[in-house]
Amino acid sequence: MNMITNHLPTKELQALDAAHHMHPFTDGAELAEKGARIITQANGVTLTDSEGNEILDAMAGLWCVNIGYGRDELAEVAARQMKQLPFYNTFFQTSHVPAIALAAKLAELAPGDLNHVFFAGSGSEANDTNIRLARHYWAAKGKPDKKVIVSRKNAYHGSTLGGASLGGMTPMHAQGGLPIPDVVHIDQPHWYNEGGEMDRDAFGLERARQLEAKIAELGEGKVAAFIAEPIQGAGGVVIPPDSYWPEIQRICDAHDILLIADEVICGFGRTGNWFGSQTFGIRPDIMTIAKGLSSGYAPIGGSIVCDEVAETVANAGDFNHGYTYSGHPVAAAVALENLRIIEEESLIDHVRDVAAPYLADRWATLTDHPLVGEARSLGMMATLALTPNKETRAKFASDEGMIGLRCRERCFANNLVMRHVGDRMIIAPPLIFSRDDIDTLIERATRALDETYASIREDGLLKAA
Ligand SMILES: *Cc1c(COP(=O)(O)O)cnc(C)c1O
Repeated sequence: MNMITNHLPTKELQALDAAHHMHPFTDGAELAEKGARIITQANGVTLTDSEGNEILDAMAGLWCVNIGYGRDELAEVAARQMKQLPFYNTFFQTSHVPAIALAAKLAELAPGDLNHVFFAGSGSEANDTNIRLARHYWAAKGKPDKKVIVSRKNAYHGSTLGGASLGGMTPMHAQGGLPIPDVVHIDQPHWYNEGGEMDRDAFGLERARQLEAKIAELGEGKVAAFIAEPIQGAGGVVIPPDSYWPEIQRICDAHDILLIADEVICGFGRTGNWFGSQTFGIRPDIMTIAKGLSSGYAPIGGSIVCDEVAETVANAGDFNHGYTYSGHPVAAAVALENLRIIEEESLIDHVRDVAAPYLADRWATLTDHPLVGEARSLGMMATLALTPNKETRAKFASDEGMIGLRCRERCFANNLVMRHVGDRMIIAPPLIFSRDDIDTLIERATRALDETYASIREDGLLKAA
């Protein structure tokens, strides 16, 4: 076969892609018809595609490129580590310096007594680990019946069998016979969609108390853990009411239930602290990490575990669990360098003091747009609800997601990556976003919203369900 390079015409690359490459979360037939957008390089906050378009990446790849693209330091660290020790495992009482150094660094950064790290290759794998860890912990404490993990509808915890079972995405459950046994789901704290006439905080309390009701229904002796993202990401950047997390924390403490905070998106600066748990005052027993841990430069995830759980598991014989690439030396070295950059360049201060306040101001102005029912942000995450009726928060009469998809396409046409979840638009830009980048974002998003509004009016789609 001829060399396949950036210099092939886009059409040829698209044809090869459709013929041989099965894509995640993609309708294959539609992809074959339209052709994938092919990204060839990136620098800072800007992507370049095979047609030479320069696109502002307001999604940081997939919520992960926190430090931005094109940092040579990470490439150099990876090359050095590959030459010195490209691989060794951490099974059977062996270790290596990158895994040791990264675990120690994470223990230093993580709040409370979260002092122990079990490495995985991704967020999904880390959540699989968490299921094993929580159940094994209770068994070691003489409570083998504490097995049920409570999660939430519309949560995202990954795509492995365990991760997708913990997640509350019904289209994922529908394929492959999920969830696995002993995983149950309560309602999410999504006030805009589900709060009706209730006040935000009253609604937050009602949703948190569903956890207490579920524990009462199953029996405290059956429930191992509750897992949740501080802010639901893939579910549509659902920022919970202020009342929600304190009540969840109270319930977990009162009923001896492990609290697992899935920090895969919220971790590493996105909410203006190292972890989303700090922003919301959550005291988790286990945190799931991935994505921003390496800014996506290398695949790596993990679980940061508190003293009590780690020590109990350590004294319960072999933990019969692990991945070939747990603590992979190249990925660990890259992650360490990424953390060094976040720390030394004060990126979290930049988020808290500069970027997030400015984003919040500018993003809020989008509520003036006739199509926008809600514009909300926290740290470097933001969401827009599109609606045909701002007063009633109505949904569109068209199939859910159709208007959101149109808006995403208008964003792309205006050189902006914004994602849609149903008829909701979301962003999670690199943490290095400057005020100028935010101005560019708002300008392009406004144009995309105007074009979407014009096109759906023309097609008679501005109708409430
Ligand atoms: C992306 C994500 C995961 C899964 O991580 P992968 O690296 O894709 O396996 C888990 N939890 C949350 C909150 C995520 O956003």
